Parts: sequence; structure tokens; C-alpha cells
Amino acid sequence: MIRKYLITGGLGFIGSNLSRYLSKNESNEILIVDSLTYSGNLNSLPEINSRKNISFSRTSLSERNKLSKIIANYRPDVIMHLAAESHVDKSIDSPRIFIDTNIIGTFNMLESARDYLKINSNFLFMHISTDEVFGDLDNKQSKFDENSNYDPSSPYSASKASSDHLVRAWGRTYGINFIISNCSNNYGPFQFPEKLIPHMILSALSDKDLPIYGDGSQIRDWLHVEDHCKALEIISLKGKIGRTYLIGGDNEIANKDIVLNICEILQNLLPISSKKTDHYKQLIKFVKDRPGHDKKYAIDFKLISKELGWKPKVEFHEGLARTVSWYLENKGWWEEILNKKYKLERIGK
Ligand code: NAD
Repeated sequence: MIRKYLITGGLGFIGSNLSRYLSKNESNEILIVDSLTYSGNLNSLPEINSRKNISFSRTSLSERNKLSKIIANYRPDVIMHLAAESHVDKSIDSPRIFIDTNIIGTFNMLESARDYLKINSNFLFMHISTDEVFGDLDNKQSKFDENSNYDPSSPYSASKASSDHLVRAWGRTYGINFIISNCSNNYGPFQFPEKLIPHMILSALSDKDLPIYGDGSQIRDWLHVEDHCKALEIISLKGKIGRTYLIGGDNEIANKDIVLNICEILQNLLPISSKKTDHYKQLIKFVKDRPGHDKKYAIDFKLISKELGWKPKVEFHEGLARTVSWYLENKGWWEEILNKKYKLERIGK
């Protein structure tokens, strides 16, 4: 039987990896809804031209009536809502668009889903959210789990927290079958160069400083995007309606160690040829900390593990080495972005 997925944000980093992964299965049909903002990119999913089971509508979350029509015509079994503004630094500089896209945009998706209830009451609305909604852990605290309190620190995380609340309320009030997932930091191929890992790889390759916020001791729990895609698929097939699942990598690593690891991998694969230094590590520069910077995130993913049998599989050092190699081998993808859309002066997440 054909299973129909409607994926918002399917041409962003996670969405393009997810659409590629789900469309490998010919029993799945994928409709991507994406407005192609600066972080969306048709080049992230060349399979759009070769796989018959992927289609695309260039539509913004602000187009409320069009969203309703698209959903009614396509009749998805599962809506996976990923489209969002996703960069914390950008949210500190320009918060307004985060309110428009992440809050009002999710409201528009929920209202369109409510319209769709009139013709199909069995579809699933999956809201893809972040661990950042829970705020900060101090080093002594245990990990975040499904019972953690919301305590967002940045405009980005506050907007995602708001969207989580809207999804729960629309589920309880109007009977939309929903599941929310809150995932830790993802890494892997096709990630936009504003985020920490690609930012550092591409800056190092351009012989630029590698700017680390504060003392670089902020800890994040890193998950390979492939593992996230598998988690989302399992949730769509076996997840319990109304549940929240936390997804993490069991990889708590300080930002400065991530950057050191990238430098070592690069030095092995492509020894630096610079007049300034003889190792990429010497490009590291500690800069003024980000305001409201959370110190630590870590995820307890026992629930999804126990209920759905999901566990992260990609070992971090192997995943990071693969990611660095991907950026070395896919210059065309990121050079186009650096030429047209983005300058490397900003600092990654
Ligand atoms: P991304 O910035 O790479 O991609 C976002 C996509 O959404 C882009 O294709 C963009 O064109 C699209 N989009 C943005 N505004 C839109 C609008 N108004 N209408 C239609 N499309 C629009 O983001 P990502 O890193 O792939 O994250 C995807 C989702 O996963 C987000 O909801 C994010 O909060 C969540 N998430 C990300 C991470 C992470 O580490 N990247 C971790 C946990 C959760």
C-alpha cells in the first residue's frame, strides 16, 4: 500500500536528507512543501528529478489557503512539519521572522490540518522540534526527557516552544492526531554553512579564523542526520498518538572539542597549505560569547528506545569524518551557496 508523506521544509538540511531516505522505499510517496528561503536548496535533493515518488510545491507557510488546498488534494497519511527558521544567531539579530515562520507558520499548518480533518480523520501530524525548548542543563543535572519543563533561552527556541504548545493544543482541542519529537543537534551532509560543523570546515578550507564562542565549553548532544531520519520514520509508523519523543545521539561533546576534531580530520585528509600556520588548529580563535548561550544540552532517549526500538547507530567520530569528506567532495554544492547566499563571517550554532 502507498504511504503518502507531506514534508514541509523538505529542501532544508534535515528535510532533504529525510525526503531522500523515505523516497528510497517505492511504497512511499513524498510531497515537499517549501518556499526555498536562503537555507532551502533544490541542489540538496537532486533525486527530485530522478525519483517519480517525490514532488515539490514551492509554497510558503504564510499561504494559509493554498496550504489547505494542497493538503486536501494530496491527501497525506502523514504530515511531517519541519519548515522553520532554524539559526539561533539569526534569531538574536532578527527575531521577527522566527515569530512569523515558526509560530504563525505552524498555526497555518494546524488550521490547514483542521480543514483536512473534515475529509480524513486518520492522518498523523508530526511536529519536528528541538531540545533547545528545554533551555539549559547545568553539569550536575541529569538529561532532558519527555517530562522536562519548557525554559527556552533564545528567540529561536522560544518560537519552537510556542509551536510545540500550539500543536498540543490543536491536538487536544480539535482532535488532530499529533506526535512531537524534540531532537538534539544534527550534523551530516547538506547542512547550511551557517551551522557550527560546516562553518568550521569551510572556514578552515578558506584559511579563515575558526571562531569559537566564549571558552568553547558549551556541550551539545550530536546526532547524525541519518539516525534522525530513521527515528522520524519509525515514529511515523509506530509512534503513539499524543506522545512526545526525545531523540538524541548519546554524544555529549564540547564545542571546542568538535572544532579540534574537525581540524585533526582535515589535517589528515588535506594537510593545510597556508602561509599563516602549519595546522588547522592554529586557526582557532575564541570570541565574545553569544548572549543567553545555553551551556549544556543532553537527551535521555529511553522512551523512543523502549517503545519503538530506535537507537542512534552512527558512531560520532566516523560520522564526523564522513561529513568532513562529504564537504571536501561536494565543493560545487557549498561554493554556490557561498557565492550567492551567505558569507562566512557569521558564527555557527
Ligand atoms: P534548515 O534551515 O536547513 O531548513 C529549513 C527549511 O524550511 C528550508 O528548506 C526552508 O526553505 C524552509 N522554510 C523556511 N521558512 C519557510 C516558510 N515560511 N515556508 C515554507 N518553507 C520554509 O533547517 P533544519 O536544520 O533542516 O531543521 C529542520 C527542522 O528541524 C526545524 O524545524 C528545526 O527546528 C528542527 N531541528 C533541527 C535541528 C538541527 O540540528 N538542525 C535539531 C532539532 C530540530
